[in-house]
Amino acid sequence: MFPPRTPIHVQNAHKQIIPIYDFLATYERWVAEGGDTYCDFALGNPQTMPMPEFVAALREAATPKNPTWYAYKMSEPESRKIVRQTLNALTGLDYPPENIFMTNGATGALLVVMNALIGADDEVIVNSPPWFFYEGMILQRGGRPVVIAVDPKTFDPDLAAMEHAITERTRFVIINSPNNPTGRVYSPDTLKRISAILEAASKRIGRPIYLLSDEVYRKVVYDGATFHSPTKFYKNSIMVYSYGKTLLTPGQRIGYVALSPGMDHVEELRTIMLSSQILSGWAMTSALMQHSLPDLEGISIDVAGLERRRDRFVNGLRDCGYEVRSPEGAFYIMPRSPIEDDVAFAGMLAKDGVFCLPGSVVHMKGYLRASVTGTGEMIERALPIFAAAREKVLATAK
Ligand code: PLP
Repeated sequence: MFPPRTPIHVQNAHKQIIPIYDFLATYERWVAEGGDTYCDFALGNPQTMPMPEFVAALREAATPKNPTWYAYKMSEPESRKIVRQTLNALTGLDYPPENIFMTNGATGALLVVMNALIGADDEVIVNSPPWFFYEGMILQRGGRPVVIAVDPKTFDPDLAAMEHAITERTRFVIINSPNNPTGRVYSPDTLKRISAILEAASKRIGRPIYLLSDEVYRKVVYDGATFHSPTKFYKNSIMVYSYGKTLLTPGQRIGYVALSPGMDHVEELRTIMLSSQILSGWAMTSALMQHSLPDLEGISIDVAGLERRRDRFVNGLRDCGYEVRSPEGAFYIMPRSPIEDDVAFAGMLAKDGVFCLPGSVVHMKGYLRASVTGTGEMIERALPIFAAAREKVLATAK
């Protein structure tokens, strides 16, 4: 599907992140050639119409109410006020408004933080399997992703490896719970232990090692589980959030960065964050989305509906002989590919109109990643295709 190639304008270190860009090009081709009946589980994209409340909020916000309605926007006081209330309810912490930076979704938020904090040869600890763009963002700053594998049984971070991986050059550790792709939701105990490791290492090194909490899926938890923000447990935390998952509208970009109240060097960080936003291409949430925020903050997709689809998908795949865990949160299930070559197997499924992300793209060779944002009807149509593809490769292997 994406043959190995030698990138010409790309440094060697970037080779390891090429699969996602190649996959995106392949995916575009699948969609273009897929007719009207494909079953798309490849990315966390909506496959049904957006929520009417979302559309109504944008319609209302589109009508200008004063001459500066569409003027340059930074992190507007009204947006900061709304986020502050939400974060207070979530964490019990009172975030000063000036610690909140409105961004273009979480990709924008992450990039602004990376541009602000990473210098040449600085190290960032990334738990593997990771979200597929972290490493590219670190590399494009001249930094070094230090990749540590999570415990393969629990999908919790390997705390001993994390402790061991921290050096004088470590700037921050990325924690993503609920996790993409594993679906793991980290327990308070795990988060307290991470906090203790970072506290001790910061003391030893003589400057804070930040915790970057990517919590874009914090409202997508199943089975009555409770999400705990890592920021509650560690003072030097930087939170990244996106409304794109909660509203399932990732093409209308809105998110934020929030610097924990009372963190070290906060004034300096605030100034760097603002300049980083400007120098990252006016990386602020658009006027329209900030005007919509008062109406958007309280709405959410139907998480119970996602949970029902997760159950149907997981059970249906198990019935066809696939090995698959049931995730505790986020959008993705990770069935084991019946052959080690997950790229070839994903290509086979795609020929029959079923699109999944090959696990290799997220360091999980031998697996597929499928999003439960696909519709129930897509799942029903796809299950016999999954069953037939598995039988076919197993018969060939005999
Ligand atoms: N972080 C994680 C873990 C994600 O899964 C995603 C999107 O898939 C993002 C960040 C980026 O979110 P956004 O679409 O808001 O840029």
